[in-house]
Amino acid sequence: MPNLHEKSAAELAGLLRDKKISAVEITKSALERINTLEPTLHSFVNVYPDLAVTMAEQADRMIQDGSARPLTGIPIAIKDNMCLKSRKTTCGSKILANFTPPYDATVVNLIKNEGMVILGSANMDEFAMGSSTETSCWGPTKNPWDTERIPGGSSGGSAAAVASCQATVALGSDTGGSIRLPASFCGVTGMKPTYGAVSRFGLVAYASSLDQIGPFARDIKDIALMLNLLCKHDPMDSTSVPVQRSDFSTFLDKKPSGMTLGVPVEFFNKLSNQDVERSLTEARKVFEKLGVKFVELSLPSLDYGIAAYYVIAPCEASSNLARYDGVKYGHRAENFDGMIDMYCRTRAEGFGPEVKRRIMLGTYALSWCYYDAYYLKAAKIRTLITQDFKKAFEGCDGIFCPVAPAPAFKIGEKIDDPIQMYLTDVFTIPVNMAGLPGISCPAGFSSDGLPIGMQIIASHFQESKLVQLVSAFQRETDHHLKHPAI
Ligand code: GLN
Repeated sequence: MPNLHEKSAAELAGLLRDKKISAVEITKSALERINTLEPTLHSFVNVYPDLAVTMAEQADRMIQDGSARPLTGIPIAIKDNMCLKSRKTTCGSKILANFTPPYDATVVNLIKNEGMVILGSANMDEFAMGSSTETSCWGPTKNPWDTERIPGGSSGGSAAAVASCQATVALGSDTGGSIRLPASFCGVTGMKPTYGAVSRFGLVAYASSLDQIGPFARDIKDIALMLNLLCKHDPMDSTSVPVQRSDFSTFLDKKPSGMTLGVPVEFFNKLSNQDVERSLTEARKVFEKLGVKFVELSLPSLDYGIAAYYVIAPCEASSNLARYDGVKYGHRAENFDGMIDMYCRTRAEGFGPEVKRRIMLGTYALSWCYYDAYYLKAAKIRTLITQDFKKAFEGCDGIFCPVAPAPAFKIGEKIDDPIQMYLTDVFTIPVNMAGLPGISCPAGFSSDGLPIGMQIIASHFQESKLVQLVSAFQRETDHHLKHPAI
């Protein structure tokens, strides 16, 4: 079948159901595409053809015996920070280069039970710290729209794999924007669900109070299918919230007329890129034509989002990363003089420069005399941000804003300037601070052909509104249907 790799999960599921094609055929076509494109793009850390074909055969059996589920037989890439039993999970770090988890993450379990086909583990910034996928110890991933540019990060491999049609869908994790930013830079749709909506069990922790797993796809219909699969209560994650889940697919055809989107003045005042401004203005017109009302609103504390995040996230990271000591698993230095020296050398050899920077920032901020000045203050700002959003949602169904200040930048452009790199997340970080769901959807292209995303943020557990709004938008526009000429 021609252009099989370009089909959405919903389309492939239809073909599988009608027995027009088999899961093994779909998988082999995906593996072929990976063989052709990976030398250029490097979206994967590891590709597992043996595992993928075995899972596809299992999917075909499920289809034969009538036990198929909505996503059975669909190829997926998993970010390299989710435990995949008996396969490597490296987190883009030398310290975990040889780590083989003895168990599956809950999301991996759900994917296996669904009969999906795992193609491999997607490249990422080391321990998900970064916005460009350049901090991976395995080298950077390239943006499929322009291979001299970064794909965004930290889930850059997942976004690039979906944008280049190597994988139909992918999983990423988002602590400060790591799903939405690469989705925007690669021209795909990516959703960060509410904190507590998707289990984090088996996700290698970066900043536990902010981390959340979510899906990438080219079409909102596939995001809805993935949310149906992923949003389940899990007793293995104490922050997993046992709420009644909707069938997200039922919101795909609901008209958005009468809904209200809030426009935060602080966000738009910060915009200086004309391409982003133009795309957002045009997207707004599309919504207005669909009967969506726009209201201006103010979120004053958001200006402090980045500063507070870069205290809270490193603090949690320094504590989470204390476990990598070379004793039970991961890298261990070969030459050392006593136990303390073994810890020091192991960590010095195993962690890359950005991770070391975060560990030092976090350890400093948590130290006894500075705790009140930094961590406590940041925690208070976090509360103010949450309150600002809460007030805003009294007058609107969603908040409409950019994902990033500008389209994808060049490889190497910001890697030596951490502050510039951190500022890329100015519009995404506040969403994690408040634990809200946010989606990035293709909204246009820059004058030189780079994708530009828009972001919509909803109130806690209102992912269905995001599905409804983005679905209506994608019916009216074709940005999400364009493919990079790779
Ligand atoms: N770029 C941000 C950071 O480096 C966010 C990363 C993420 O969401 N994992 O912390």
